[in-house]
Amino acid sequence: MTNPSSVSLVHLGCARNLIDSELMLARFAEAGLMISGADSGVDAVVLNTCSFIGPAREESENAMRELVERKRAGEIRAVVVAGCMVQRYAHDLEKRWPEVDLFAEISDYSALASSLSQLLAGGTVESYIASDRPGADQEGSRLLATPESYAYLRISHGCDHTCSFCAIPAIRGAHRSKERGGVVAEARQLIEGGVKELLLVAEDSTAWGRDRGEDLTDLVRDLANAAPDADYGLRLMYAYPNNFPWGVLDLMREHPKVLPYLDIPVQHAATPMLKAMRRAGSGDVVRRTLDRVREAVPGVTLRSTLLVGFPGETEQDVAELVDFVKEYRLGRMGVFTYSPEQGTHGYDLPGRVPPSEAEARRDAVLAARDQVLLEDQSTWIGRELEVLVDEVHESRVVGHTAMDAPEVDPMSVIEGIVVPAGTRLAMEVLAVDEEYNLIGTPVGVLEEDPT
Ligand code: SF4
Repeated sequence: MTNPSSVSLVHLGCARNLIDSELMLARFAEAGLMISGADSGVDAVVLNTCSFIGPAREESENAMRELVERKRAGEIRAVVVAGCMVQRYAHDLEKRWPEVDLFAEISDYSALASSLSQLLAGGTVESYIASDRPGADQEGSRLLATPESYAYLRISHGCDHTCSFCAIPAIRGAHRSKERGGVVAEARQLIEGGVKELLLVAEDSTAWGRDRGEDLTDLVRDLANAAPDADYGLRLMYAYPNNFPWGVLDLMREHPKVLPYLDIPVQHAATPMLKAMRRAGSGDVVRRTLDRVREAVPGVTLRSTLLVGFPGETEQDVAELVDFVKEYRLGRMGVFTYSPEQGTHGYDLPGRVPPSEAEARRDAVLAARDQVLLEDQSTWIGRELEVLVDEVHESRVVGHTAMDAPEVDPMSVIEGIVVPAGTRLAMEVLAVDEEYNLIGTPVGVLEEDPT
């Protein structure tokens, strides 16, 4: 019997794209391919691309170049490119990258898995797999690529907003909520598998249920009650700030399984910019929304994403944004510089900000963020915090607190202890490092992961 062909996956982009990577891996395994985490010694490499903004596409193309060179050198037999960039630029990519064996749009990935198996078995296949966007409920199982402690849970697909900087609706399509019972069943399965934290993701999680006459509050409540005896938490990511379903805040305040944390990308705080970006609402609406979240959920952690350098942005707008970051103490926050995206309303707007100026503006916003973050993190020195362990090293573990989403927020490093991922530890905070991570010492095991 011959050994099965092996495949590894290179993942780029956001958590939503990671779910697609996990779906692909599951379909490959079902098709009899051997999944490898190794970088070399595999038959095929699949690249899951990101097309969010110019730099993300550049990173995707660099990764493609590297894989094609490896194929030329005889290190691998097949290169597959999938994901958001294919969804948007498939035909252009096909022309420019003839050595890529297969391009695949975002789909249910079964066709991709069978084409890849055929290809590796020496067969000929179409080089481009176009697919209707998957129905919201046709995802299938995943092979998790996250640490054992947490997993992403997609609650809907696509977005109905028309923010003038964003190409995501063109890539991922209109908003479609996944069916409530299906999401809850998926959550239960993950919890039964030992996952301690579920990160709810979507292009716009606020919109969950609107197309079904339901509300995000209904879903979060069901998820929070899905496994009453199990130890797990829910974290809400990517919540569009307008028309937020306020009932979710009651659950955050009252339900022990709903973490007091909200990722709410506001993009800007200056009204002229929000209008130009075609965001619903104004600077006042953004501020009132954050005020209301803070009032309803004492101690809540807010995370946000901002965009600087949008056409027409003035020095005054940036100064307002910097003040906003300080006033609302947005220590957990990412900033992007505007990247003109073809096919979006922003592409043709006058008043483009030169890239070097946009970068200087981003740095000014980041400096305000870093100051806030350092101050806030330093207040924990000498105090205790609960940490969920994600990574285990030789003589220390790395995890995150309830205040921090894994991968995007600061980490917690606990020296002098080794316990399995998924364990909850009490840590005394000793210091804050140069990347604003908390460094601590263990003061107790709260719940050891039994698996
Ligand atoms: S809400 Fe988010 S995903 Fe939707 S168009 Fe705006 S920025 Fe893009």
